[in-house]
Amino acid sequence: MITTSVLVLLGIGFTAAVILAVASKLLYVYEDPRIARVEGVLAGANCGGCGYPGCAGAAQAVVDGKAGATVCVIGGDAVAANVAAIMGLDFSSMEKQIAFVDCTGGVRAEEIYEYAGVRDCRAQNLLYGGSKMCPEGCLGLGTCVTACQFGAIEMGPDGYPVVDPALCTACGACAQVCPRGVITIWGLSARITHLNEITDCLAPCRQRCPGQINIPRYIEQVSRGDYAGALETIRERIPMPLSIGRVCPYPCESVCRRTHVDEAVGINMIKRFVADWEMNSGQRLPISCAADTGRKVAVVGGGPAGLACAFYLRRLGHSPTIFESMPKLGGQLRFGIPEYRLPKAVLDWEIEGILGLGIDVEYEKVFGTDFDLDSLKTDGFEAVFLGIGAWMNMTLRIDGEDSGGVETGTEFLTKVGLNMETGIGRKVVVIGGGNTAIDTARTSVRLGADVTLMYRRTKDEMPANIEEIIGAEEEGVKYLFLAAPTRIVADAAGHVTHVEYIRMELGEPDESGRRRPVPVTGSETLIEADTVYTAIGQKPELSCLYDESGTCPLGQTKWRTLDAHPVTLQTALPHVFTGGDMHTGPALVITALGEGRKAARSIHQYLTDGEPHYSSKLQRELIPYTMFTNVPDVGHRQRSTIPHLVSYDERTCTFKEIEGALSSEEAKHETCRCLRCGLTCYNRDMTGDQECLAEHCAKIP
Ligand code: FAD
Repeated sequence: MITTSVLVLLGIGFTAAVILAVASKLLYVYEDPRIARVEGVLAGANCGGCGYPGCAGAAQAVVDGKAGATVCVIGGDAVAANVAAIMGLDFSSMEKQIAFVDCTGGVRAEEIYEYAGVRDCRAQNLLYGGSKMCPEGCLGLGTCVTACQFGAIEMGPDGYPVVDPALCTACGACAQVCPRGVITIWGLSARITHLNEITDCLAPCRQRCPGQINIPRYIEQVSRGDYAGALETIRERIPMPLSIGRVCPYPCESVCRRTHVDEAVGINMIKRFVADWEMNSGQRLPISCAADTGRKVAVVGGGPAGLACAFYLRRLGHSPTIFESMPKLGGQLRFGIPEYRLPKAVLDWEIEGILGLGIDVEYEKVFGTDFDLDSLKTDGFEAVFLGIGAWMNMTLRIDGEDSGGVETGTEFLTKVGLNMETGIGRKVVVIGGGNTAIDTARTSVRLGADVTLMYRRTKDEMPANIEEIIGAEEEGVKYLFLAAPTRIVADAAGHVTHVEYIRMELGEPDESGRRRPVPVTGSETLIEADTVYTAIGQKPELSCLYDESGTCPLGQTKWRTLDAHPVTLQTALPHVFTGGDMHTGPALVITALGEGRKAARSIHQYLTDGEPHYSSKLQRELIPYTMFTNVPDVGHRQRSTIPHLVSYDERTCTFKEIEGALSSEEAKHETCRCLRCGLTCYNRDMTGDQECLAEHCAKIP
């Protein structure tokens, strides 16, 4: 009996042991040991500021890959470095993220009602969609300020939140509570690679700028005296504010809402002011770059497009090398645009700053002759940017064009840019109506020639910048409008003596919208000339893309430019990208710079994700409802004028720079003319009359 009982007990005990052993195997929950280790190095405050339930929750999120090494918002860099070490991440390559308020706008165009309940943006937004008419902008009740546990946000003098980057830990609490989504947590790479989206707060000027510069933001920064911040804003989009501040025809100003009151804000003069402020200080502002990735990219062509592409690739951590056929960089900025508009010393200073980030250059290396796509691949370049501009000149296709003394305007300007002998005579005829024609004419004047500029349409149709057209006239260039060359007459030695031209009259508009010039039969006339410069257009020289068998792996457009995806700028070969005049045909410096950044963005995405991205939300055209036809209640305010550094008399015999920069007082005055537009708002209080303006400006420290 006793034996049976013992056996039963032993059996029960054994069965229980087996069940427990099996259960422990089946119900065992594995915990990644890194969770405990990560939790061990976190600050231990269990504050929840990271958005997770205490430090244990944060550690779990890190190990699950839901949070980064910088998860602990009060731990600072030391804690983040420890977390990164446990997770096997490279802490030095982690970008600092900060909160960025996208709405710094003005008072809304129209107040609909004022909600007197709880002073909370979320309640306001939920109950009434906000008290202001703008459906996108900041409501200004400061819920983000209350949400921030680090005192990093406060309401600025105009009632909009201002972030202190030094205190911001990028915990995201402000972004979480903002019902309008106007606060984003950004790192440098995300800011550099962002393209305008229709949901962004895009003032008309910002929509129109081919470089996508956040114009309202830098104007607001200059108005507060934050010149360094303004330059940082500009350099998130273009690397050459000194050059652009001098040569841009500022398309942004054409849509400035202030034109409905008096004249556009002098956007480009403000940019030039702040860019000159840095250069004249002699100190370069630091430009941040992501940690090295070691990925090699070849940038072919060192004009504005190539320089911008290399600049942003470097800022994104990659290693670009520029291959340039000329002995110096700058492209048409150096060899087209003359000294009196853009001094070489200024251009050199700007390019030195770009190269100073750690960009290599191979000078006098001609693509298609000294190297090609295959050799670049062999040399370890993982992607290629092609930006060789549009240097092939169109010909007049008239008799005598090959006579001595007949040359293209760009050849002449390049010789001047290289300090070479030009062989210019005394009586010069320039043919064309664009920037190249005007620069050729004004440069010829400075070399002592008597210059006539012949154009087949009228002054109104000239594509050159209006200031240049007026400047040329002031310097004595004679215009011969509605005249087209029909023949170059040469002497017995084959040197030009006259240009024969025919009178034109304007007919119906052509596909460009300009009225088509029609010849007046029998009106041929001769004009005397010992030198003729033609400047009737350029296109890219694409022969360098063909191999010995005459094959080109890349596509071309009907305008004989390099074909590429309109947003990503990727060509038919996935690792080859393009931008600038080579892609668009002859355009503007700001367009080339904008395309350079876009291409760098795509190359970065290609290197990191395998392919470039584009979003359906991208802003391509002007957004119609943001284009106002009037801005009531805004008083007149005189636009500043650019000072001239050289007198009219002196101008025709010197290459000294003509235009100067605004003084700091003038720049501030100009920033106070800005209406601080957003998608729909503008600030009438700030500009309504002299008193309001003075009040606003008094708030500026
Ligand atoms: P580019 O500036 O042409 O640069 C291309 C670079 O590629 C050059 O450095 C070239 O040497 C190099 N390259 C060419 N072939 C090869 C090769 N096979 N291998 C290696 N390298 C090569 N725009 C404005 O906004 N405002 C103005 O006032 C203005 N004035 C102008 C005046 C003139 C006379 C000219 C010609 C243009 C002007 N423009 C102006 C237009 C502006 O300069 C161009 O749109 C801009 O420079 C284009 O930049 P890019 O980098 O695409 O090409």
